[in-house]
Amino acid sequence: MDLIIRHARLKGREGTWDVGITGDRIVALAEQLAEAATTEVDAGGNAVMPTYVNGHIHLDKCYLQEKMRPNKDYTFGECLELTWEHKARYTVEDILERAGRAIEEGILNGTTVFRAFADVDSVGKLRGLEGLLALRERWRSVVYCFELAKRYDKDIHMLVDDTDNPLSRSLEYLAVKTMREGYQGRVSASHCGALAAYNEIHAHKVMDLLKQANVSISSNPHISLVVQGRYDQEPIRRGITRVKQLWQHGVNVFSSQDDVADPFYPFGRNDQQEVVSYICHTAHMAAPSEVEAAFDFVTYNAARALRLQNYGLEPGCKADLNVLAAATPREVLRLQRPPRLVVRDGKLLARNQVQREFMGR
Ligand SMILES: [Zn+2]
Repeated sequence: MDLIIRHARLKGREGTWDVGITGDRIVALAEQLAEAATTEVDAGGNAVMPTYVNGHIHLDKCYLQEKMRPNKDYTFGECLELTWEHKARYTVEDILERAGRAIEEGILNGTTVFRAFADVDSVGKLRGLEGLLALRERWRSVVYCFELAKRYDKDIHMLVDDTDNPLSRSLEYLAVKTMREGYQGRVSASHCGALAAYNEIHAHKVMDLLKQANVSISSNPHISLVVQGRYDQEPIRRGITRVKQLWQHGVNVFSSQDDVADPFYPFGRNDQQEVVSYICHTAHMAAPSEVEAAFDFVTYNAARALRLQNYGLEPGCKADLNVLAAATPREVLRLQRPPRLVVRDGKLLARNQVQREFMGR
């Protein structure tokens, strides 16, 4: 074997396990693998998960915060205006530089799959797309990139009902259209904040349709917390969709970073662990089984939405995995430490070492 990760805690298995890797595949799982490998890593009882999947990120806009005039009120209209000012001046080189930095940061935080969104409109024309195509070439060996259009028999991912307005009803249309077109399992919808504003009867009808149509829903809590609820008086809503209810309803829910320091969102580290933490806080998912489910939102569920093949930790799966810096999902969130090690294609791709020292005594 090329690589063995020893003493790893794995979801759904008691005790610690050794994960054996040959080439780019996981080939063995055992409580103790007898043979030796060229490279061995001791996970030390920490959790090991497949690498994180970010199903929604605007790589063309990352880090625009560094060069734009500051936001005043974060209304959606203002965010759009600021974006237009920059989109009109986009160059491929500029996008490559900013998006490349975002990808590097994402990898350090354990993400190896990004579904990138590029604005295509009369302001930026096709430059956002050209920038991301160039980006895909540059990073092809390290990350998989994006899907774009049904025209080329690709899957569809739409931003839907990104508002608190209960009169916004695109999601149910999308679900029905998905079934009519026979596109079940190939459609994702992001945000869907309006669903949270519907009355219970209508919300249940829409959630039934989503399940029937096998539409995946991406909730991206960072951006929703900042941009939504802007017209509310107290109590102010959180702007996210019905994450917990959708999950309990059996709809495939996943979660994404969405924005990194752009006109819509001023912060962001391209960190899917942080995304899970925000989901747990905003969707009231704090019980152990709920925290575990929230990690599925950035791993297995996101992989299902993106229809990734051979994703997971069973023998035969691709050897793309994170050795985390804590034993349980709850501890990963509590400590907020980046993955100790990121493995892709069976090779060590990134490492984080957190050094802390108390100097008071
Ligand atoms: Zn978005």
